[in-house]
Amino acid sequence: MSKGIKKIIKRTRHALRWRVLDAVHDRGEMEIVSDPWERTHIIYSPAHPAPGNPLRDIEYLHELAHAMLCETVHTCMSTHYFEQGTPEHMLHTLSPIVRAASDWYADGWLMSICPDDERSEIEEHYALVCRALTAHGFAAIHDEWRWGAALIIAQAVKWCGRRNIGRGALAETVNVLLAIDPMRPSRQGMERLINDLLSCSSMSMRIAIDDADGTIEVAQ
Ligand SMILES: [Zn+2]
Repeated sequence: MSKGIKKIIKRTRHALRWRVLDAVHDRGEMEIVSDPWERTHIIYSPAHPAPGNPLRDIEYLHELAHAMLCETVHTCMSTHYFEQGTPEHMLHTLSPIVRAASDWYADGWLMSICPDDERSEIEEHYALVCRALTAHGFAAIHDEWRWGAALIIAQAVKWCGRRNIGRGALAETVNVLLAIDPMRPSRQGMERLINDLLSCSSMSMRIAIDDADGTIEVAQ
């Protein structure tokens, strides 16, 4: 698997017009920071990856997918910048929702580039979600975890023919994702997806994404 992915990484990096830099951070996961003002993408990898969970090439390619969509579709597809003065508690609530929405598109891009590798990633994550739901039950799903779990279930339904194992709010969140085509990324689609996800939560917020610079504005 890795040889093909390595080639795609090389090709994708070459196709990007902004500068791509590599760096390390103390967190456990990879993360891209795209700066539309400086026109750079910095891809952060964990300085100390967990021994049982080494870094995967496809995870690096996922970060490049954000970069690609950021340059070719809209800057809102990569790093999220909230309007200055957005209260901390809103950032905390919104961040995992916005991340799930942009990952829906980034992984859609991966499905179009390396479907077999991406499908096996989804299957592996879906099995983890199933195990967690069996162990802890639906009641134990708190809001923060719900967006990530919904994303994985929606991907498994869409690309791997699995069923929506969610119930209640989780099942509804999965259906909201499935109603938006991840293969047709757009600023409008991203905005709608985030607002639809917000409306199936207990929060009464709505957001708008500035067309010029991708800044997310929150209205209540
Ligand atoms: Zn991502």
